[in-house]
Amino acid sequence: MSEERTIMHMDLDSFFVSVERLKDPSLLGKPVIVGGVGARGVVSSCSYEARRYGIHSAMPGAQAHKLCPHGIFLPGDYAAYSDYSRRVTQIIADAAPLFEKASIDEFYVDLTGMDKYFGAYRWATELRQKITLETGLPISFGLSVNKMLAKMATNDAKPNGQLMIERGREQEFLDPKPVGKIPFVGEKLEESLNKMGIRTIYDLGQMPQIA
Ligand SMILES: [Mg+2]
Repeated sequence: MSEERTIMHMDLDSFFVSVERLKDPSLLGKPVIVGGVGARGVVSSCSYEARRYGIHSAMPGAQAHKLCPHGIFLPGDYAAYSDYSRRVTQIIADAAPLFEKASIDEFYVDLTGMDKYFGAYRWATELRQKITLETGLPISFGLSVNKMLAKMATNDAKPNGQLMIERGREQEFLDPKPVGKIPFVGEKLEESLNKMGIRTIYDLGQMPQIA
């Protein structure tokens, strides 16, 4: 048996939109879309209010405009985003001995060896609060035994939440989820799996091994 690991995953909630809202609080509560401006632009981030119209990141701007004509479309202020990203990274670096920046708004912290699993959860909770207090940005985290599960926990916790998968309950957490919730399973693969009758992660586990 390998050593039990404790991994925290963190993700800033609709990061670009959250930064825009710090710059202009009148954007709070409104469908805000960053990107998708101009003929060939694509959405790079959108608020939860915009998601209700079916808008998601990587969607062509023209389609987003059609779905939500009264949405507030912003070109994006990438200097401000990287500035805030740096600030969040610094807070994490000051607190965590071992961390990895996975993208501009996403981080993993290795808390293996920290006294007790629940101690790690408390530590993670405090770090999350510190980030929001010092930057004004909402952030979510997940805690589990590996990176994939921690990231899936974060996705469940969003927006502005946190979730620990209790040790030993990983399979219970996974089984009922649609296969599309696995981070590396895209829309196309999910569709193919569904066509094979595989809808949940449990179904996937029932498949005979193909060597
Ligand atoms: Mg994010």
